[in-house]
Amino acid sequence: MDVHLINSSTKNILRSATPSAFTLYDLHSHTTASDGLLTPTELVMRAASMGVDVLAITDHDTTAGLTEAEVAIKQQKLPLRLIHGVEISTLWQHHEIHVVALGIDISHPSMCKLLVAQAKRRSQRAQAIGVLLEKAHIPNAWQGAQCLANGGQITRSHFARYLVKQGRVANVAQVFKKYLVKGKTGYVPPEWCTIEEAIDVITQSGGQAVLAHPGCYPLSSKWLKRLFAHFAEQGGDGVEVAQCQQTPDERALLGRYARTYSLLASQGSDFHQPCAWIELGRKLWLPSGVEPIWRDWASDVKSNIK
Ligand code: AMP
Ligand code: MN
Ligand code: MN
Ligand code: MN
Repeated sequence: MDVHLINSSTKNILRSATPSAFTLYDLHSHTTASDGLLTPTELVMRAASMGVDVLAITDHDTTAGLTEAEVAIKQQKLPLRLIHGVEISTLWQHHEIHVVALGIDISHPSMCKLLVAQAKRRSQRAQAIGVLLEKAHIPNAWQGAQCLANGGQITRSHFARYLVKQGRVANVAQVFKKYLVKGKTGYVPPEWCTIEEAIDVITQSGGQAVLAHPGCYPLSSKWLKRLFAHFAEQGGDGVEVAQCQQTPDERALLGRYARTYSLLASQGSDFHQPCAWIELGRKLWLPSGVEPIWRDWASDVKSNIK
């Protein structure tokens, strides 16, 4: 059986019959180091309980959650391999495009330098969002978001959660729609690094650069193809083909694009918090014909675990 075609429920059935016969990868997840709601310890415990074998933690522009995760895995002897990752925000043709880095050396000077610059941009953007919301008669949003970020990288999600908590808007999705997306009161155009810069730094720090959730950008099919072409031309390694919330058609299409643009295929839940529709390891398998991003990983998995 092709190991890439196995999903988590099939795996649970097969596990007792053929232990360790295949590996479940989830290569995109968040913790409280950015806008996830679980601590790194809680996240790795949940991943292990969901049958995930290889987990990448990919917080927004920070690697701060990885050490705690690694300690938790060791102390609790979890059957889980950790991939050192980060999700870097970039700007391409006025669109915010996310690039996931996998298997990086988190102490590499170029990576550290880039993440310091990105953190500064995050902080400045958050302050500017706060000013715009203040003008729109929503006071203290910056302070509220900062408080919810609790020392982690601040994101628009923290503003959204704050506004929901204040009872101003019913849910996070509505806050984005009403206030935080392009053209709305609290939208601040970001100044992220370029795709080229992100790929360059990821490559220098020994990792693989993966175009994150390509189905989630507001791009026409013509522009999506341009994005794939650009990402591949700049030396990107792979693309996320499989996510848990996705139609079969979209997964098949992204698989075809991966082949067309000679990109390896990755998969990840983009888990942020326990909820009904997204779960660690759920529905993650690759369509046939693609080359998995882990193709050349050593059998003990490229993880930087010392
Ligand atoms: P930022 O990096 O500050 O631009 O925040 C981006 C994060 O906000 C994403 O990683 C998502 O977690 C979240 N997000 C973006 N758009 C939406 C949306 N429409 N609804 C809910 N969450 C969103
Ligand atoms: Mn997020
Ligand atoms: Mn993203
Ligand atoms: Mn993400």
